[in-house]
Amino acid sequence: MNALQQTSRPQPIAPDLGACSRGLYIDGTWRPAAGGRTIPVTDPSTEAVLATVPDATLEDAASAVEAAAKAAEGWRSTAPRKRSEILRRCFELMIERSEMLATLISMENGKALRDARGEVAYAAEFFRWNAEEAVRITGEFGIAPAGTNRIVVDYQPIGICLLITPWNFPAAMATRKIAPALAAGCTVILKPATETPLTAYALAAIYEEAGVPPGVVNVLTTTSPGPMTAAILADPRVRKLSFTGSTGVGRALLAEASKHVISCSMELGGNAPFLVFDDADLEAALDGAMIAKMRNAGEACTAANRIYVQSGIYDAFAEGLSRRMAAMRVGNGADATTECGPMITRKAVDKIDRLVKDATARGARVLCGGAVPAGEGFYYPPTVLADVPGEAEMAHEEIFGPVAPLSRFDSESDVIARANNTEYGLAAYIFTRDLARGMRVASKIEAGMIALNRGLVSDPAAPFGGVKQSGLGREGGQHHGIAEFMEAKYIAANF
Ligand code: NAD
Repeated sequence: MNALQQTSRPQPIAPDLGACSRGLYIDGTWRPAAGGRTIPVTDPSTEAVLATVPDATLEDAASAVEAAAKAAEGWRSTAPRKRSEILRRCFELMIERSEMLATLISMENGKALRDARGEVAYAAEFFRWNAEEAVRITGEFGIAPAGTNRIVVDYQPIGICLLITPWNFPAAMATRKIAPALAAGCTVILKPATETPLTAYALAAIYEEAGVPPGVVNVLTTTSPGPMTAAILADPRVRKLSFTGSTGVGRALLAEASKHVISCSMELGGNAPFLVFDDADLEAALDGAMIAKMRNAGEACTAANRIYVQSGIYDAFAEGLSRRMAAMRVGNGADATTECGPMITRKAVDKIDRLVKDATARGARVLCGGAVPAGEGFYYPPTVLADVPGEAEMAHEEIFGPVAPLSRFDSESDVIARANNTEYGLAAYIFTRDLARGMRVASKIEAGMIALNRGLVSDPAAPFGGVKQSGLGREGGQHHGIAEFMEAKYIAANF
């Protein structure tokens, strides 16, 4: 079974909220923010405040850079085998504590516990995978074409890395960066999203227990990410910015990093097309759509955002998807029976509501859901819209919620053009029994990742990333993920 697929396991284990909100994690110590200010963390299922975490200042950021710099030499010269064993231990501890971590993720993010369990398995896998990769970093050795000298290429850790992550996968987006950075021999400063910082701190305690030395991983939460990022990137010892989040913030960060010519990896937004051809296996396409749309209640960068169904299968697909969506159990994320939890914030619900109203005003038909429920919690029901026109705002913006917009198509060339009519290019999904067509369409769709007859692409062993405005660089994969944290050094050598 794939790590992301849902699993049924014992009842949730309550996390120690005090332990994951005890301070900023800098140089192996837990400390309050220099200014003494804090940030409340809210449970989206109940709107109750779960805990508060420190609101770091520029002084704290400077301490984190100092700690990462102090630890850098020791970590880069630690034997790869030793680094590998520490990463492996991080994996093991995450798996041992997976019920606690999954519950914590559900509480602060709202995602259904079964999705949170999937996330923990996926997040931990980045440590196992990179523990295996840490001892396989090789260089190159050749002879210059003129025969005058040898060409030696060595791969070295790039330096101190600033890692910035979103709230939608609080564990996995952090480990997808931290594990390869540490495998490469870099020290890091993680700035997690303020909506979901408790998971980042709970994981920091695990790294410490696994033997990650003080200063190698530092974690800071702040309500002033712009000024803090600018200050950290201005330190010449910081050589890497790895960001996962929205395209808008990514563009601003690229501009900031350009001032110091800092290497950037960008995992940005998506607008994934999901194509179902007449000859598709209907049940497989419906299973795939439910995963591609409803994993994390639609709050995923890879989420199917536009579902194009060929005319011959359109009505059957619409009926089948509406039946499945309407049957989903909506509720508190930390309840083991929930299938669709709340959205992250009220603002997110308002955005979804706006997009749905815009689509229906332009002629889309509501097949199920489609209205914000009354009561506490940031809920939006699983919704299917039929006949969504290409001008609808949701065809061009990330919905980031449990809304499946269906549109009809007739020809292959037409659907490829419509699928590519977006500034984004992260993931795409194709369902057809004709493998030749599947591969042909896959080669023409402008996306970094294609799922052919399946609803899930994410895998630590495969390169994850986008083209166009969906990003720069790749995470995971055999060498791609670690390469983002290394610099090639060429030595022209005569012996
Ligand atoms: P966001 O861009 O608002 O925030 C992401 C992170 O950036 C957070 O930690 C936030 O505090 C920080 N941030 C915000 N403004 C900043 C600034 N001016 N300077 C520095 N940091 C700043 O995104 P979000 O709402 O947290 O996450 C959802 C977005 O992330 C969606 O667009 C989604 O598609 C994208 N995403 C992409 C991937 C991927 O792998 N491509 C994965 C997950 C999420």
